[in-house]
Amino acid sequence: MSRDPRGINWGTAIFLITYQTVLLLTLPFYFYYCTLHTGTLITAFVLLWLTGLSITAGYHRYFAHRSYKAHPIVEAVLIFFGTMAVQASVLRWSFEHRLHHAYVDTDRDPYCINKGFWYAHFFWMLEKLQPIDPKVVPDLISNKWIAFQHRHYKPLMFGVNTLVFFVVGAAFQDYWGAFFIAVWLRIFCLQHFTWFINSLAHTWGSKQFSLEQSAVDNYVIALLTFGEGYHNYHHTFANDYRNGIRWFHFDPTKWLIWTLSKVGLAHGLKRTDPLTVKKRIIIEHKAFLLERLSNYWKETRHELEKQVVDLSERILASISEFAKLKDLYQKSKNEATEPTSLEQIQKNIRELQSKLHEDWAQWKALSHSILRG
Ligand SMILES: [Zn+2]
Ligand SMILES: [Zn+2]
Repeated sequence: MSRDPRGINWGTAIFLITYQTVLLLTLPFYFYYCTLHTGTLITAFVLLWLTGLSITAGYHRYFAHRSYKAHPIVEAVLIFFGTMAVQASVLRWSFEHRLHHAYVDTDRDPYCINKGFWYAHFFWMLEKLQPIDPKVVPDLISNKWIAFQHRHYKPLMFGVNTLVFFVVGAAFQDYWGAFFIAVWLRIFCLQHFTWFINSLAHTWGSKQFSLEQSAVDNYVIALLTFGEGYHNYHHTFANDYRNGIRWFHFDPTKWLIWTLSKVGLAHGLKRTDPLTVKKRIIIEHKAFLLERLSNYWKETRHELEKQVVDLSERILASISEFAKLKDLYQKSKNEATEPTSLEQIQKNIRELQSKLHEDWAQWKALSHSILRG
């Protein structure tokens, strides 16, 4: 199963290095001698988004993580534009990505960041591919469209991009623009945006949800990757259809999936509930803060350690009590319990919520003071 580090995947290596070198060397001449039609530019931009979202909402969150269920029409569109993105077949992409999540930061991680920034960004793709283990992707192998795309990937990928060239070229009578911008520059930009997730989103940013592994959250990367920059959250709760969980987090992939669900084209969207997220933060940060406190002077250390332990235990207890009360409320409602009992449960839930809110604010203040100190 392990990758042969000496073997080079010559086909992919020659293709990727040649097209990028030729593109970067010839683009200045294109811009100097040719005039780009506005229609070509707009089409290239639209195709960048369509292919980009097909990778993030399709290859990544739908096929690799199964974070929602989609209508067959959506599945077909995602495969079509995903093929245009030139990022391998759904099967190959998802296989590598599932290994990445299962073995992150180890030798079995196909784009392990510990082997270097540029290895994770690009060079891993130049190595010989390991055979696809059906046990990693059993659900995808049995899908006839995915199996078809995998079997005929290269002619399909060249075919759809050739189609883009002829259609865009004929539509705006701008064949040079179609060739340079709508095909090659669009492919180049999207490939690097996606590769940033394996390189930048494992080096530059902050960690909040799991501190042990390399994935980080970064708003700037989210802007370039259709919302995939909240990578620490994603590695912690990989089945969530969202990567940015707050309303102000830039995650167009999440908005697309949500919109599809509202028009009946997607369903079964998986979300991690906020209390599970809070619980995770408390457990991760408690260990981290206690470790940090080991450098403190003895007198202040004991007091702060006590505060961290007491407060974290109180919050965790409130979270589990909250879940119990929610269950009790639902059960009582189903059994048509008296309204007064239901009101009492609701009152208890509200009280617990406000206690949790206060404790959470206290926890944040305590964490900041320890980290600053
Ligand atoms: Zn990752
Ligand atoms: Zn993932």
